[in-house]
Amino acid sequence: MTSSVPTLDEDPSACVAAGDSRLRRGGSLKFFYGPMDCGKSTLALQMDYNHARQGRRGLVLTTIDRAGPGRLSTRIGLGKEAVEVGTDLDIRGLVRQRWAQGIRVDYLICDEASFYTVAQIEQLADLVDTSDVDVYAFGLATDFRTSLFPAAQRLFELADEVTRVQVEVLCWCGRPGLLNARVVNGGIAREGDQVVIGDTDADPAAGDTTADDVRYQVLCRRHHRVGDLGPTARAEGQLRLV
Ligand SMILES: [Zn+2]
Repeated sequence: MTSSVPTLDEDPSACVAAGDSRLRRGGSLKFFYGPMDCGKSTLALQMDYNHARQGRRGLVLTTIDRAGPGRLSTRIGLGKEAVEVGTDLDIRGLVRQRWAQGIRVDYLICDEASFYTVAQIEQLADLVDTSDVDVYAFGLATDFRTSLFPAAQRLFELADEVTRVQVEVLCWCGRPGLLNARVVNGGIAREGDQVVIGDTDADPAAGDTTADDVRYQVLCRRHHRVGDLGPTARAEGQLRLV
């Protein structure tokens, strides 16, 4: 059966005006959060795949991904081209630009959303409310000091649904890993800039560290609070002292 209902290509509101009930439910803003290594980026790509196979058209966005600008990557080897979200990117403008080019945008996959600006989170909410775009945001809730990232805080405040990602990552002690520790030169950091690039895959023994010797480790609350990185780190620390 064919349909003469206008698509989102020109004007998303035209679809509603024309009675396309598919769009009347409105969009929603969903935030999936968890510590590093819990599978957020993998879930983001799965979400994109699930929507795309139903014929929906979306955009994948990320920022400061470990693979570099313009790419969403996962620790288990999946990846996809993505729009790099710089601090001055107007996400509403980006979507409207696509519409002007005749490209449908039904949904957004926003990885590393805790590193977006608060203004960009507001733009996502606007797209949901005024244009029925579905937004799926993925990111960390808290920084290495266990304080909320501003963008994550805004997502908690505005999102229709907030979900802790259920793929459990464990602390070295076996408890659920909830918090990200920043490890600088082998010790847990308690102060510093909120965003410093590092990874959880870095192997200090192989010299695989950033120039500043920064890495991240997921810990349970108890061990984050006392700053205990586990027996392996303690052994490495002793070796470093020799
Ligand atoms: Zn622990």
